[in-house]
Amino acid sequence: MSIARVALPVAAFETFDYWIPEGLAAGPGAVVRVNLAGRHRIGVVTAVDGTSAHAERLLPIDEVIEGVRLPGEIIALAEFVSRYYQCAAGMAFDLALPPIARSGAVSRRPASRARATRIDREADAALHARDASDASDAPDVAPAGSRAPELNAAQQDAADAVAASFGSFAAFVLFGVTGSGKTEVYLQAAREAVARGGQVLILVPEINLTPQFEERVRATLPQVHAVTLHSGLPAGTRRANWEAAASGAAGVVLGTRLAVFTALPHLALVVVDEEHDDSFKQQEGVRYHARDLALWRARRRGVPIVLGSATPSIDTWRRARAREARLLTLGSRAAAGTVAPAIAFAPVRGAVVAGGLTPQLVDALAGALARREQALVFVNRRGYATSLKCSACAWEASCPRCTARLVVHRGPDRLRCHHCAHAERLPHRCPACGNVDILAAGFGTQRLEEAIRTAFPTARVARVDRDTTRGRDAFASVRRRVDAHEVDILVGTQMLAKGHDFGRLTLVGVLGADNALYSADFRATERLTALLVQVAGRAGRAGPPGRVIVQTDFPDHPVYRALAAADYAQFADDVLAEREAAMLPPATRIALLSGEAHERADVDRFLAQAFECGRGLAGTVARSDDRIELFGPVPATLARRAGFERGQVLVQSHRRAVLQAFLPRWREAIERSSPRRVRWVIDVDPVTF
Ligand code: ADP
Ligand code: ZN
Ligand code: ZN
Repeated sequence: MSIARVALPVAAFETFDYWIPEGLAAGPGAVVRVNLAGRHRIGVVTAVDGTSAHAERLLPIDEVIEGVRLPGEIIALAEFVSRYYQCAAGMAFDLALPPIARSGAVSRRPASRARATRIDREADAALHARDASDASDAPDVAPAGSRAPELNAAQQDAADAVAASFGSFAAFVLFGVTGSGKTEVYLQAAREAVARGGQVLILVPEINLTPQFEERVRATLPQVHAVTLHSGLPAGTRRANWEAAASGAAGVVLGTRLAVFTALPHLALVVVDEEHDDSFKQQEGVRYHARDLALWRARRRGVPIVLGSATPSIDTWRRARAREARLLTLGSRAAAGTVAPAIAFAPVRGAVVAGGLTPQLVDALAGALARREQALVFVNRRGYATSLKCSACAWEASCPRCTARLVVHRGPDRLRCHHCAHAERLPHRCPACGNVDILAAGFGTQRLEEAIRTAFPTARVARVDRDTTRGRDAFASVRRRVDAHEVDILVGTQMLAKGHDFGRLTLVGVLGADNALYSADFRATERLTALLVQVAGRAGRAGPPGRVIVQTDFPDHPVYRALAAADYAQFADDVLAEREAAMLPPATRIALLSGEAHERADVDRFLAQAFECGRGLAGTVARSDDRIELFGPVPATLARRAGFERGQVLVQSHRRAVLQAFLPRWREAIERSSPRRVRWVIDVDPVTF
């Protein structure tokens, strides 16, 4: 009898055995429906064997889902993810499956079965409609005149270097200042890969960036069948696009982090754009990092990978400096006549500040408006004010369920927690002392929008943040309005910082950046620098020169100096040296055990036990040149969230292999002893604390 090992999306690290009925093609990679404890489940066959330890009690496989089959490479990838990130095998395989909902079969998310099926049908209809009109659609997405520019020498060298390594693994860091034409390099390399019959996987950090990127792919490579994959697509479209990739029909697959799991039989090149972006790391469920998995995949498949950024992550920078990756540099902007923007700093303290705006920024905005140019004003907080305080006593509005301040929102007027769903009415007097003089302090996007509308009543202002872009098409519609010059001033959060190309934008103002300097996270300055360089990079990308005004009281801070000197390489070298001296990643490898429970005592006890047990196990994996170190337990940065008390233990070692030997043993020991009251997770290579 043939026995299938099936990975099921449940919290179990092991696979489950089922017998394969006669005539059912349930080999490795087959997607199957089985019965687990009375419920239908969709899983993946990871291996087939002749024996099972539980042979007499086995159930049969009920059905093989047709049209989806995971190749060996993806099975290996999912198994690696389970091993490396300490997550259940079935959860890792679940990431690799396209949405499955067909007649007879069940949805992978039983709770939303009806909905998934309905969406599927709509999407299928839409898909067929599009198929039928494919040819007539083409002029829409490839407008006349948007032909690919001829590459400059630096771009051509970079594209040639990548193409020269087709057929074997090589990692490239495409370090190109904003507007230097990195995208053209990816597309040139992609063109050559596809010409040789290969497939290209391009990962971008955000769904919002896919339409713009997709347009450029279609304009530059009109003959190539390109598909997108991200969680914002209707299930039917995603499934069809997945099949186009898995069958080899799609030449280019463009997607967000989850696309790294796509089956690609002819994979020839991998591109990770804006590789420094934290969105590549999934923060819940399976905590994988798509850029790291892309590297793993490229190495295993023996294909080149390009990690592109104007501000490479320090992890990637280390790789380049250690010559594990080759640095390709694009030092200047590509479009004719464009230069890097001029950077200026404006002091906030003591300055006459109208609605949070310094006189310098107000003047510059007035100038841009007079010249009919566009401006972007950036503040990385949504809402109206960052806190609400009493002027007479120490009261400050705080969340009853989190250790966090409540944020003032307008229209409707509410106090909202940004860490949980809590919301309440705005009080009109201090709940502690009755004083009516309560103050909204700090600036969010709403307040900034208000200040700008007051200062420039005739300007057309658009605000872009998570609150204004909830609808599926909201972001795209703002883009269109900006492109059509129906907007003079954009106000927004980091959503606007990434990768967008707004043609007439010549001025960028930055507010509130100093707040990030006080963060306890060791990556805070790396992140702030990346954000500032990216947001500054929106200015002057075509035509008139750009100007950036950063409101800060600390213009001599290394972050701002790096920005002013336009010398990210020096900054990255300095940060890397600091990390090495302080034994922080990427000089070391870390994992974080986080626990949470309603009672503080339960978390503390759990973490103390885990810490002791970890100390005991550390000795068993120590090597002469490396050992495991444990730190903690300490409360999490956000000590209480949504009613849960939170804490953590950090584990560190110099070698990935030593940490990887330690983690499964530790995880198993914690599994055996953890009380039900405590929820916990191990985050390998964490990006937040
Ligand atoms: P990046 O991704 O590095 O920020 P892009 O690839 O978006 O830069 O290019 C920035 C702008 O420069 C785009 O408008 C693009 O069309 C233009 N561009 C890129 N390469 C060239 C080139 N070789 N000649 C002229 N314009 C170019
Ligand atoms: Zn008070
Ligand atoms: Zn809260």
